Parts: sequence; C-alpha cells; structure tokens
Amino acid sequence: MPTLDVSAYTPQEVPLPPAKPANFFTELQWKTFFALADAVVPAIHTKATSKSSNDRVVSDAEYNSAVVSLATLISGPDANSIATRYLQENVSSNPVFRSTAERILSDHVHDEGRNGVGLILSALGSRAGSLVLTGSTTLIHDQPIEFRERIFRGWDTSRLPPLRAVYRGLSAIIKKSWVMTSPTIGPVLGFPRVPVHGKPTAGFDYEFVQLPPGDQPEIIETDVVIIGSGCGGSVAAKNLAEAGHRVLVVEKSYSYPSNAFPMSPNEGFVNMFENGGAIFSDDSSMAVLAGSTWGGGGTVNWSASLQTQGYVRQQWADTGLPFFTSWDFQRSLDRVCDRMGVNSDKVEHNAQNNVILNGARKLGYSANTVPQNTGHGEHYCGYCTLGCSSGAKKGPTQTFLADAASAGAKFMEGFQADKVIFTKVKGKQVASGVKGTWRSRDSYLGLTGAGVVERKVIIKAKKVVVSAGTLQSPLLLMRSGVKNSQIGRNLHLHPVMGGGAVFDEETRPWEGSALTTVVNEFENLDGQGHGVKIEAVSMVPSVFIPVFPWRNGLEYKLWAANMRRTTSFITLTKERDPGRVYPDPVDGRCRIDYTISAFDRKHIVEAIIASAKIAYISGAKEFHTTYRDVPPFIRPQASTPESPEGTNDAALQSWIAEVRRKSPLNPERGLFASAHQMGTCRMSKSPKSGVVDPNCQVWGLEGLYVVDASVFPSASGVNPMVTNMAIADWASRNLARVMGGHKEGNVMARL
Ligand SMILES: Cc1cc2nc3c(=O)[nH]c(=O)nc-3n(C[C@H](O)[C@H](O)[C@H](O)COP(=O)(O)OP(=O)(O)OC[C@H]3O[C@@H](n4cnc5c(N)ncnc54)[C@H](O)[C@@H]3O)c2cc1C
Repeated sequence: MPTLDVSAYTPQEVPLPPAKPANFFTELQWKTFFALADAVVPAIHTKATSKSSNDRVVSDAEYNSAVVSLATLISGPDANSIATRYLQENVSSNPVFRSTAERILSDHVHDEGRNGVGLILSALGSRAGSLVLTGSTTLIHDQPIEFRERIFRGWDTSRLPPLRAVYRGLSAIIKKSWVMTSPTIGPVLGFPRVPVHGKPTAGFDYEFVQLPPGDQPEIIETDVVIIGSGCGGSVAAKNLAEAGHRVLVVEKSYSYPSNAFPMSPNEGFVNMFENGGAIFSDDSSMAVLAGSTWGGGGTVNWSASLQTQGYVRQQWADTGLPFFTSWDFQRSLDRVCDRMGVNSDKVEHNAQNNVILNGARKLGYSANTVPQNTGHGEHYCGYCTLGCSSGAKKGPTQTFLADAASAGAKFMEGFQADKVIFTKVKGKQVASGVKGTWRSRDSYLGLTGAGVVERKVIIKAKKVVVSAGTLQSPLLLMRSGVKNSQIGRNLHLHPVMGGGAVFDEETRPWEGSALTTVVNEFENLDGQGHGVKIEAVSMVPSVFIPVFPWRNGLEYKLWAANMRRTTSFITLTKERDPGRVYPDPVDGRCRIDYTISAFDRKHIVEAIIASAKIAYISGAKEFHTTYRDVPPFIRPQASTPESPEGTNDAALQSWIAEVRRKSPLNPERGLFASAHQMGTCRMSKSPKSGVVDPNCQVWGLEGLYVVDASVFPSASGVNPMVTNMAIADWASRNLARVMGGHKEGNVMARL
C-alpha cells in the first residue's frame, strides 16, 4: 500500500460553532472542577522537580521508570523530552482542554446531569460540604493532588448513587477532553494528524439552498421532503429523484468538503456527531455515538458492509413481515451494495484485524472478512470516524446523495425539522410537509455566527419521509403529535464492551481499514439468535483511550501511551432486551433509558473471554477491558504463543475464571458503547406492535414515512448500514411507484 508524506497534507481547519456561555457554574465551581480534572490527568513530578501543589509527586524510581518506558515506546532523539513533557502536562493549564470540557458541560450534558455535577461541585466549595464529602474542612482545590485523586476514586464505589453518577460523568468528560486536546499525546503515540495511507481527493461538490434574510416564514414546495441525509435518507433521495419527483433533502447539520477531512477530534465530534459525540444513557453505563452531518452516520462510519443474515431475516419475517425473506429484499441488499462497490477482494487487513482473523483461526472460531463499501477499490486510511479524505469510502455523500443531485434533488443543510405538518383530507390525517428552522453558514462559510441568517421555514410536500435516525426520528414524531405508544420504544443499541490487547511490538492500529474482520462463533448463544460478534474498532485515540478505566493518573497516562502497540476488540451484541428514547423534559434533546440486561451481559462475558483468548494466542502481553472491576490480564513472562498448553495456560484460565465469577457483570462498573441504534419506530404487521407498516408508512397517517434504522424490527446483529439502505431502497421504490409516473424536471417552487 503506497504511503503519503503526512507533512504534505494539512486538512482545512473547521471552526467550531459558538458554545453556550459557561456561566451555569460559578467561578468557584469551575475551580473545583478543574482541580478534580488535574487529579484525573495530573502533572507527574518528583519531589525535586515539583513546583506546585497541583503536581502528583511520585518517587524518583517510579518517575524514572515511567520516563524510560515511555522513551522506549517513543524512540528517536527527542524521546526523553517528549516523555517528560507528557508526564508533566496537566490539563487545567491547557486552554483548549478548558474550553472543550466547558463546551461538553454547557452544550452536551442535559440539565439534570449538569445540575447533579453542579450540586457536588457546590458542596465541595463549602467547608461543611467538604467535610461530608472528603472528611476534611479544607476545600478540595487546596488539597494536594494525591488527596483529590483518592477522594475522586472513592466516589466510583460510593454508597451514594449520585456520587457514583458524578464520578462516571466527570471521569468520562475529563478523559475524553484530555485525549482530544493534549498537545503531547500525538507525539507520544506517534499518531499522525492525517492518515499515512490514502491520497486526499476532492469529493462531490454539493450546492445547498440559500434563503435571503426575512422575518416571515419562508415557504417552499416540493413533492417529497426527506428529513435527514444519512444512510436511509440518501437512498430514498436517489430513488425518488431518479423517478422524476421533486425531492428536497433537509439536514440539521452541515456538509464539509473532503479537504477538511479527517477533522481534528475536537472539530470532528462537535461538527459531525449527534450531541458532540457525548450521548450517555441515563445510568451513564452506555456511550452512544451517532453521526450528524451531511451523509449522517455514513460519513463517519467504518465501511463495514455486511448484509442481513438469514436467521435475522427469518426472525423478522416471523413477526409477520415476509418481505425480509423475499427475493425483493435480497435484490435491494444487492442493489445498494453494488452502488457502493461493496467487495472483499480489495480488503487488506491491518495489524489489528490480522490479530482477530489469525487468532480466531488458531482457536477454531468461525471468522470472516467483512466486505467494505469502497467502490471495488482500496481503502487503507483508518481515520473514517473523522471523515474520509481519500473519498475511497463510498458512503452516502459519494454515492446516493451525488446520484440524487444528478437527478435534480435539492438540498438544505442547517435545517432542523421541528414538526411534521398534517392536513385533514376526507376525515383522515395526511402529512403535508414539515416546519423547521434554517440556519445558514456565516459569511466565512463557518458556523461562528457572523452574518448568519436564521429563518423559519415551512416546506409543503406531498410526501414526508423521516430519516432522522433512530435517536431523532421518534422524537420528531412525538413533537408532531403522532400518537402511538410504541414510538421511541424497542431501542436496540448493539452494546459493545471494549478490549485492548497490548503487544511487545508496534501495531500502529490506526493505520489501515478499521473493521475488516468478524468472528461469528458466538452469534447465537441462546439458540434464538441472540449473541455476540467480535470485531475491531476504529483506532482514533479519542475513540479508544477514553473508554478504558481510570485507576490513577500515572497508570492512565502509561496505559494511553501503549496505544501504539495495541489492538482492539469489540463485542457487538445482538441483544434481546431493548430500551427506549424520550425527549428531555427541559430542552427536548434525546434521552436514552437503556441498561443492558443480565441476559445480554452474560453473552458479552463470553465474547470478552474469547477476545482475551484471541489476544493471548496471538502473543499479546496484556489484555484490558472497559470493565472497571476486571483487572487487566498480564501474561506471565515464561509463556509464549507457541507454549504447548495454548489458551489452557493456568494464568489465563484463572483470569477467565475471575471474569466468569463476575458474570453477568454490573452495568455500572463498566463503560459499554453503541455505534448502532435501531428499532425506535419499528416495522410491524399491526399498529399495536410497531410504528410503521410494512411499507414504512406510519400506521394511521397517510403520506408520512420513516426510512432509517429506526424501522428495524429488532437488532440486526450485523453492522446495520446495508440492512438500513436496503429497506430504504425498497420502501422508496414503492413510494415512487405510489406517487405515479415520471415528472419533468425537478424545480422547486418558492412561494
Ligand atoms: C462511528 C460509527 C461507525 C459506524 N460504523 C459502521 C460500519 O462500519 N458499518 C455499518 O453498517 N454501520 C456502521 N455504523 C452505523 C451506521 O452508520 C448507522 O446505522 C447509520 O448511519 C444509520 O442510518 P440512519 O439512516 O438511521 O440515520 P443517520 O445516518 O444517522 O442519519 C440521520 C441524519 O438525520 C439528521 N437529523 C436528525 N434529526 C434531524 C432533524 N430534526 N432535522 C433534520 N435533520 C435531522 C442527523 O443529523 C443525521 O445526519 C457506524 C456508526 C457510527 C456512529
């Protein structure tokens, strides 16, 4: 695979939109927050080098050993000085860390969560509160860092649930903000700003509808309005526009040219993810990642393009939906795969995917290559989460939306759909459009606020297609007054627990396609099709490092630095038991009520054990999980992958026995994650059991369709993009037929 001179390409900077003011906390509360942040990611010093009570002082021996082990990893003439700067870096003196953490708390944490944190910070700002929470009347920011570290760690297992919740919330925010903004972590990891492989290429040049300033609502007419430009919406846009209908796709987020990719982590999460990439379930046990940009999740996803498996299709058909076992569905699956050039023959596995594939083979586990949507070409860049600069990933913006544009579809970015509008026709409610707010880019094509035009817009349409994704589509229906108790329920998240195997040699896991292998061995653990697949994760540091447990500042920094020798595992669970989404009572944002059931957690345990075995047989020296109560497995010095006992090794077996004793795990003690959301507007054979009918039309409401992953009857069990697109393909073709013959042109009438 040819390599790129990484110094030859600097992506265009993407300005962050203005954050809300951080005045929800007092100065003292912020002081306390940053004092805690410094305890989580402290400046490490020896007595001799320490100049401040804010430093974490360790013994000379500990410090020197940390510098030596870091310098060995980093290598090169500057290794010692990089290692020292990394150890001595604290977070509160980094203004970018401060503004990042402030933005997360102001923009991305809901009111209830912020109030909970605020309450604890206030208590710590008073002598009485300090006494209760820390056992000392000295305010925590005046305490030495070791004291703060101990107090903070104690909250993790506190008997008081609010303290445990604040621990989980704050540690997640601090870890993530640090990895995203640390000036030294990149050099320590050897993680280049842009991928080493893959040549930057210009993408499709989209044009977006612009409106002049004005006080009155702008009224736009079209045949079909599609709300959301992601995997479902883009396919519908193509089919309906190619059938000659006037199509307008509205997207609440914005489009970015490929020369802005990959974004820096901070830019990427804020600009391209729902809620800045910081959505947590109400119990904070689950981090949920969903794309929100032009192309939706398809712009930030990892190219895995698996078709729906037979047993899942049968399960769905058995709920009264024979379409899923029909030839029609297969044709739709094949059609969307053809358009994206899905293939396995151009796949080159990187180090971490080779570990999974070869390790699985050595253990006799069934494992396969995962096909990729790469237009039958190579795609070895690895930074997909932050946008694909090479254009090799043929997601919605490279394919379906571009086709829709060529067929005359119109597009609006920055349009937040607020409500679907209905008209009564012969006593029936018929969808007739959507109301929302459009916010232009500023005069510099950024989002900073200067010269921004904001308008109320009413889009009148004959058909309304909601493709806002599993988190937002049900909320839009609720806001629109659609009555059906199933809306928002049946949330499936494919919960994953993470694993990290550390090797002696460098793996540079961010190089190469993120997710090209899957272990299927454990996909049917209950005989009913519920179980777990093992895959790898995109190894962008800000995705991988923060989900692992923090035990103390020094250990955490050393663990993070190991990423250059690490490979990842995720346990993608086709879960049985769902949760729900609902609107936040204060600001309407998406809230997630979901705790992985004991039934499903038991399956995760099996997959985490299998991942550890794969790591072991591949020669890993350590295996870490995102479960705080399972200490990492450390391989005994004497054992090698060639040792005759293989995974029967006594040390490994005793670690496995310990994990099994903890089964079914306590959801509070781990951080689980979801990149796949499904099912909140599920398709059903009757309105009692779901939200949309087998044509994706909302039960009882003519002209209103939902076309995205929210219509899945349950978890797809495979990465859902292709299943979602195939349903969208079929539903939108049917809709095009219902709407009648080919129309001339595609000109929107502005009234
Ligand atoms: C990091 C990551 C990696 C992934 N990797 C893979 C993978 O490798 N393979 C795979 O199969 N799947 C993967 N997925 C999942 C896949 O991308 C999603 O399942 C898919 O994008 C969901 O499609 P959708 O149509 O339901 O919604 P989305 O693609 O999420 O699109 C919904 C769009 O609607 C917009 N929207 C929401 N509300 C409104 C509103 N009120 N008004 C206007 N617009 C609105 C959103 O901004 C968003 O852009 C990944 C997802 C993520 C986040």
